[in-house]
Amino acid sequence: MGPRVALKLSRRGWLGAALAAPWVTALSSCSPNALPERLIGGWIGAAHERGHRLREAPRPDFAAAGAPRRAAVLVLGGGVAGLAAARGFVRAGVDDVQVLELEDRPGGNSRGHRMGGMACPLGAHYLPQPGAPAREVDEWLHEVGLLRHEAGRRVADERHLCHSPQERLFFEGAWHEGLLPPADPASATQAQYRRFAALAAAAPAFAIPSHRVPWTAAHAALDEQPFAAWLSQHQLDDERLRWYLDYCCRDDFGAGSAEVSAWAGLHYFGSRHGFHAPGDAESDREPVFTWPEGNAWLVDRLLAPLTGRVHGGRTVLRVREERGGVQVLAARTDGALEAWTAPTVVLALPLFVAARVLDQPPAALQAAAAATAYAPWLVANLQLDRPLLERPGLPAAWDSVAYGSAALGYVDAMHQSLRPVPGATVLTAYATLPAAERAALLTQPFEHWARRVVAEVSALHPDLPARLQRIDLMRYGHAMAVPRPGRARSAAARAALRGGRGRLRFAHADLAGYSVFEEAFIAGCEAAAAPCCGG
Ligand SMILES: Cc1cc2nc3c(=O)[nH]c(=O)nc-3n(C[C@H](O)[C@H](O)[C@H](O)COP(=O)(O)OP(=O)(O)OC[C@H]3O[C@@H](n4cnc5c(N)ncnc54)[C@H](O)[C@@H]3O)c2cc1C
Repeated sequence: MGPRVALKLSRRGWLGAALAAPWVTALSSCSPNALPERLIGGWIGAAHERGHRLREAPRPDFAAAGAPRRAAVLVLGGGVAGLAAARGFVRAGVDDVQVLELEDRPGGNSRGHRMGGMACPLGAHYLPQPGAPAREVDEWLHEVGLLRHEAGRRVADERHLCHSPQERLFFEGAWHEGLLPPADPASATQAQYRRFAALAAAAPAFAIPSHRVPWTAAHAALDEQPFAAWLSQHQLDDERLRWYLDYCCRDDFGAGSAEVSAWAGLHYFGSRHGFHAPGDAESDREPVFTWPEGNAWLVDRLLAPLTGRVHGGRTVLRVREERGGVQVLAARTDGALEAWTAPTVVLALPLFVAARVLDQPPAALQAAAAATAYAPWLVANLQLDRPLLERPGLPAAWDSVAYGSAALGYVDAMHQSLRPVPGATVLTAYATLPAAERAALLTQPFEHWARRVVAEVSALHPDLPARLQRIDLMRYGHAMAVPRPGRARSAAARAALRGGRGRLRFAHADLAGYSVFEEAFIAGCEAAAAPCCGG
């Protein structure tokens, strides 16, 4: 999906390391253009100083704000889960639903950006066609016109499906279709691909949302160990297979195969399209939905019925449940405090934030928050004046990844455009970082991170520095929950928070212990499913 930033290495050191790797030997004849003296661009998208107000002690007093504003339902957090919850209440006939969101714009991890008049993602950028257990998503996609029924079949609107070629891998000096490293049919690699495919097919059932399949002893056994250990135990040690599986984990879960559980590693395949060795018959693998602005396209559709109900620039600092309703204290961007009150409040916030803002967090919330580790991410949007020079092999695709590096690849925002001749574009490069690098995301300057990203993409495209107009960086300190081993131990706590009941309700992808659109959306729908509490 996007390059993982080369850590702790200078540009020279990083390139040296990269060139030593087998996959970049073809680059040695082609040195990157010099990086410009000064990179134009900056940090965008995240007002971390607002969120960090939650660390202030003592906590502000409710009495410091004026008279509270009343609402029938307050949704705290305007990410996918919060907007889906707000939409659910409006559909159920509750008109006075208000959403308080920390950032100026709603959408959370699924917001978009613009550069040079071109739309691009700031975070999430695709949605697979939902499986049967994600019925709320399926229903909503029909509502917004992405899916329709035709002669008893589900048909997707092709304009929004990823155009071909979808993915390519830079392997041994050339681009290859798909992200699975190529293998000769008679090779040991192919044999391991087949063995992993068989093991993945024999694994217990998985679903998105993950709580809609019963938890079995087989799931529990997978949950207890890291995915990498499970692979070793099954003598799956082929370098190409292991790189690919590690890539999948970093791409979906923000952490590698040594960190996530075997449950998560197999869920990745079992909940969607399985794993197929090259050349083997593949059941219909449907293309994903994607847009130049990524999942911000979906956010705009979620926002449509919520006009006038979403209040940006409101950092929720405290939430207190009282006999007469729930009191909420928020800070506006000018620092002024604002009080709200409602009989029903949905905390559509990351669990660690929900636990911090609540005056008396329930035990289940404390337990679930304590069990959730978060991955930091860096997302770089690189505006180019024209397309980059191409290497041999598959032409430019939507998603480009380099084999053998810690990188995740980059997506091309203009890939979905129907223009006849390629031109200016924006590449969105993604990087997951180890938790130890979280502080550096705040303390190291823009220039430091921008140079790393540019050096990294330049290793694939030496003409990048000459084409680069601007680079904008989005940093996520706590981007997504990492599904580490031990999921079963916090499952009861997460289940207790799920589903709408009572005055205080919870909705966030964190309730699943990992983060994808469907989990966030369904958590929001479930929070809105039960009737509101009276005032
Ligand atoms: C870089 C990146 C790429 C991703 N790519 C994909 C992808 O391609 N496809 C996919 O399905 N998923 C992807 N994801 C997962 C993504 O997290 C989910 O799809 C979804 O957007 C999560 O929504 P959410 O509402 O659960 O959480 P969030 O997006 O975390 O929403 C929480 C909201 O609460 C707000 N908030 C936090 N604290 C406060 C406060 N104190 N007061 C008020 N508001 C507050 C936040 O600003 C945010 O808007 C990606 C995630 C990241 C980080």
